[in-house]
Amino acid sequence: MELYSGHINRLIEELAALPGIGNKSAQRLAFHLINMPKDRVDRLAGAILDAKEHVRYCRECYTLTDQEVCPVCANARRNKKQIMVVENSRDLAAYEKTGKYEGVYHVLHGAISPMLGIGPADIKLKELVNRLRDDVEEVIIATNSSLEGETTAMYISKLIKPSGVKVTRIASGVPVGGDLEYIDEVTLLRALEGRIEL
Ligand code: ZN
Repeated sequence: MELYSGHINRLIEELAALPGIGNKSAQRLAFHLINMPKDRVDRLAGAILDAKEHVRYCRECYTLTDQEVCPVCANARRNKKQIMVVENSRDLAAYEKTGKYEGVYHVLHGAISPMLGIGPADIKLKELVNRLRDDVEEVIIATNSSLEGETTAMYISKLIKPSGVKVTRIASGVPVGGDLEYIDEVTLLRALEGRIEL
């Protein structure tokens, strides 16, 4: 006998498939949603659908944005000759919050991970190489200091160096395996200022 109705089971299954949500949390969330007023459920469902429909990749840096070109790339004062490579849009937001970085970004949407079967073709690497045609002077690799982040950094360095573009890596000091978004601004700035040429 099924413990819950088919509808509840389906909701629990969908929630449990989200990252970081186990079966217990999925059940808790499902019952919370069912007990929420109808208008709040409508708002939540609408927000999910709207985001999915309107959010897209920036044409230049591939961060997630509502516009064709994100606000950073659209800003004429940003230095387009300096590109900081990050793993995701949250890392970009972390560096933007410092307010001290004047270059632009490139968002990979992941990192190379042989263990998870994620190869160079699965992240936005080809797109990065394409951007180097517009006289870029420096590529700053700001992937995480996790195994995947380091593997990706090494791969990018080998890929780009023959083109003569300066390639740098942010200084370590960023905790191993720590997501960049959780690191305070001072640490981020120190990592950026202490970057070394690869
Ligand atoms: Zn952009």
